[in-house]
Amino acid sequence: MITDQDRKTFVLKGIGVSPGIVIGKAYLFDPSDIQFSFYKLENPALIPKEVQRFKNALKESERQLLEIRENLKKTKINEPLYVLDVHILILKDKKFVSRTTKYIQRLGINAEWAVRMMLDRYKKIFDGVEDTYIRGRISDIQYVTQRVLRNLAGRKRETIWEIGDGVIVIAQDISPADTAQMKMEKVIGFATDIGGWTSHTAIVARSMEIPAVAGLDNITSMVHTTDVVIVDGTAGVVIVNPYPEVLQRYEEKRLHYDAVKEEYLKDAKLPAVTLDKYPVQIGGNIEFIEEIKTAVAHGAEYIGLYRTEFIYINSKHLPTEEDHFNNYSQVVEAKELLWSTIRTFDLGGDKFPSNQKPIRELNPQMGLRAIRFCLKEIGLFKTQLRAIWRASAIGKVKILFPMISGVEEIREAKRLLKETRDELVAEGIKVAAKMEIGAMIEVPSAVVIADKLAEEVDFFSIGTNDLIQYALAIDRANEHMTYLYEPLHPAVLRLLKRVVDVAHEANIRVAMCGEMAGDPMCCLILLGMELDELSMSHLAIPRIKRIIRQSTLKEAKSLLKKAMSFGAASDVRAYVQGYMIQHFPREFQKED
Ligand code: PEP
Ligand code: MG
Repeated sequence: MITDQDRKTFVLKGIGVSPGIVIGKAYLFDPSDIQFSFYKLENPALIPKEVQRFKNALKESERQLLEIRENLKKTKINEPLYVLDVHILILKDKKFVSRTTKYIQRLGINAEWAVRMMLDRYKKIFDGVEDTYIRGRISDIQYVTQRVLRNLAGRKRETIWEIGDGVIVIAQDISPADTAQMKMEKVIGFATDIGGWTSHTAIVARSMEIPAVAGLDNITSMVHTTDVVIVDGTAGVVIVNPYPEVLQRYEEKRLHYDAVKEEYLKDAKLPAVTLDKYPVQIGGNIEFIEEIKTAVAHGAEYIGLYRTEFIYINSKHLPTEEDHFNNYSQVVEAKELLWSTIRTFDLGGDKFPSNQKPIRELNPQMGLRAIRFCLKEIGLFKTQLRAIWRASAIGKVKILFPMISGVEEIREAKRLLKETRDELVAEGIKVAAKMEIGAMIEVPSAVVIADKLAEEVDFFSIGTNDLIQYALAIDRANEHMTYLYEPLHPAVLRLLKRVVDVAHEANIRVAMCGEMAGDPMCCLILLGMELDELSMSHLAIPRIKRIIRQSTLKEAKSLLKKAMSFGAASDVRAYVQGYMIQHFPREFQKED
């Protein structure tokens, strides 16, 4: 029993993976302080029985996961079922089973201890992996071993039923299977020890629009069930047992946030047309198909960037053509979307399929990545191209090639695209008559030869995340360099303006899908350049649309002209910021 004196107040900083503020009662899900007994078997005669006990727990765990899988299929919750498949595969992994059995047999220890030793062994292996994403996948093994341990102990899953409404789930990580077992209508927030933007918790939270903070290290050992918790998924902060004045401040913040969100969502689906009738098409960027629904609800008219590399990164095996096709079908079948822009995988550099060894490169961002990697790994590339063509027969697809730095690359990509189409047609497989082809403009050389690239493609999509890092020589992932990462740098503005002008001269459309497209401070500058399409994270859409609807192309053009007259990036920023805050005060209100 926890008394009020036991309740300590503290603030934890993690990674905000799903925005919003919620205040509720903590529910410690699968607490890490569950004590399992570890002991040596009294005599060797008990070993076969212990092995059998382990095997029974495996069977029971598999049965439970299959049941959850079936139930999940029937619900409207669209979390990826593949995670459950992965968990079932781990349970059945021959090495996992045989090594654990050997620990019991050779060391004469109980099954719980043997399972724990296996987990420690995996942890050591995963700790040595450089790729942070793959390293993070230890959570799948932890999840499975916890389930086996619980079944060994004959424990039933704790239920969330008793806590009441407005529950904030505190857990090590939360998998889709967990959510299937929770009464999700009672859950208003998540806070987890591990994970980041691509962790299961994050995917689930975003697709359900539940505020969440991940990567809190050891919140599960600090929070008790029924503690009062504030989760600020926007700031990445969790406050446990807040003082009354903090609670009051957050209550106001929450109300403000909810009101703003509601107001934004109310008109989120209205088109982004300026007061002088200039239309900008607004799309959504997605990494997972689960995000489509949210993107549409926030006003996305189409998918402007589907980063397909996550299909590889999330998969334990190399995705087959069928895997790709099933995935893309779900995107193109979304009726609310005008079209879906599927970007071919941007792997290499620091992102590799889970079963491939990363190539050690001194400078991976400038190494064998994206289209360069695709043109080297033609088999992998064509598998994806085939699936994209097949999806094109179901709904409108545009294809986008990343990291184009020269004409040869786009020509070779197009050649392979045509070759793939010819093969499919010869096999009698349905494909679209035509698919629009786009080049990402994210390498400075592509800007310089944009006129030549425009002859090769149907549209451009500017990837400012990379373009800025290459143009300003600033590593986009280096937190010490962020002070120099300036989208409003005069050099960046000139590069962007050139791309738009060249595209329009060549009569092709030009989009932007880098983070700059969703930055409200840059909105009028981009409008002034006359970009045709802006694609961004769903969270940015309502505000960008509102700003566009309140402005005119004329004023945007004169703001751009003035901004481009400065030589110093700081002067551009000061001028644009001053203008935006003065003309759109409501959109730049401080939240506290
Ligand atoms: C970009 O570089 O701006 C972009 C959209 O691609 P990514 O962020 O996936 O590199
Ligand atoms: Mg990029």
